[in-house]
Amino acid sequence: MNKKPKKGTLAGRTLYVPRLSIDGASAFAAAFRSLGYNAQLVPESDTYTNELARQYTLGEECYPQIITLGSFLKVIEDKDFDPLKTAFMMPTTGGPCRFGQYNELLEKILTEKGIEEVLVVSPSSATGYEDISDKSDNLRRICWWAVVCSDIIRKLLLQTRPYEINKGDTDKVHEKSIELICSIMERQNQDIKEKYNELVDGIKQILQNFTEIPAEYTRSKPLIGVVGEIYCRLDNFANAELIRRIEKFGGEVWLASVSEWVWYSNFYQQQDLKMKGEKFSLEMLGALIRDKFQSKDEHKLYAPIHKRFEGYEEPENINYFLDLAKPYLPYWGVIGEMVLNIGGSIYYHSKGVDGIIDISPFTCMNGIVSEAIYPSVSTDHDGIPIKNFYFDETESDYDRDVEIFLELASTYRNRKTKQRVYPSFFENEI
Ligand code: SF4
Repeated sequence: MNKKPKKGTLAGRTLYVPRLSIDGASAFAAAFRSLGYNAQLVPESDTYTNELARQYTLGEECYPQIITLGSFLKVIEDKDFDPLKTAFMMPTTGGPCRFGQYNELLEKILTEKGIEEVLVVSPSSATGYEDISDKSDNLRRICWWAVVCSDIIRKLLLQTRPYEINKGDTDKVHEKSIELICSIMERQNQDIKEKYNELVDGIKQILQNFTEIPAEYTRSKPLIGVVGEIYCRLDNFANAELIRRIEKFGGEVWLASVSEWVWYSNFYQQQDLKMKGEKFSLEMLGALIRDKFQSKDEHKLYAPIHKRFEGYEEPENINYFLDLAKPYLPYWGVIGEMVLNIGGSIYYHSKGVDGIIDISPFTCMNGIVSEAIYPSVSTDHDGIPIKNFYFDETESDYDRDVEIFLELASTYRNRKTKQRVYPSFFENEI
């Protein structure tokens, strides 16, 4: 008989990680493997994933909740499934968003199914995810590197793929890049500085590989900034491949990063401590130190790609987004991705994008609030086209809507006042 592991520990279990982007989730799982945890991705999503989840839901839940729940249920269906050897990664959040309910429903279903021995790991944005592991501060730091490296790889993918000459080249390099980063990330018993330096070298190698892809960097494509709910915008299954559809109709995508959410969570944690009168507490000190290290590490990882991303720079810090959003959604009164959606949209406008798309699940609170504010944002910013795309598992004519939106973006392009800065490898003529 299996010896029952302590419910609160990961030792002896396989940790299943939801596919919050293929690059990000893969790197994140590799970060856990580096400290000896057996972490892997949940099975790929398909219609059966949703069917499984629907057996336990009412139809009122957010779409990312359906997909993540269905993915875990797929693991449970596997013939080798053992609740004593299984853990599910299901982060959570404070604040008003329904994301805070995902882990609770999961725990409830596990109990109903009589498999409550499964461990649910739920680091919270309310603590800046500092509860991600009780084992090591290193894990938190390596997880941050996973976030930054995967953001970089995704940016390279999206900047290159629309211009490739041979269809499929960029996807292959993207896949190899994930493998390279994961192979460095997952190495065990390695000095943390050595791992970090290897990651920096890995990013240099990856940049080189993307640079060598035969491509025609013409200036004729509209650049579309994409914001929205974090899971839906990053999971191709959840958003019905909207990003590829934008590319199919001639656009290039600049997708909001995962790191912006981590920075926002740090900010929110510090705000919360201040409101509780803990401005000078140990917890605040810890949060500030974490900020400092995160910032330093991020800068060094981004250093090799600065030139490549001329014109695609991310803001220096999250306060920049919050200040931009302030006239519409002041950060002290509103908590959630809607603040980042509005701040991010205005930032994209300042960088000369030709249109903005918000990808959100159907009935998403953040998406709905953002949608109500976008007309004012557009009016105040040259009339830049902004459109919400909502997703659940029902089919819609996304191709038609994307095509129409790109027409609007092309029209706006001819009259916009904020021009893009192009990296030097783009052709000069428009
Ligand atoms: S952000 Fe939207 S989709 Fe995600 S949990 Fe909150 S309400 Fe649901």
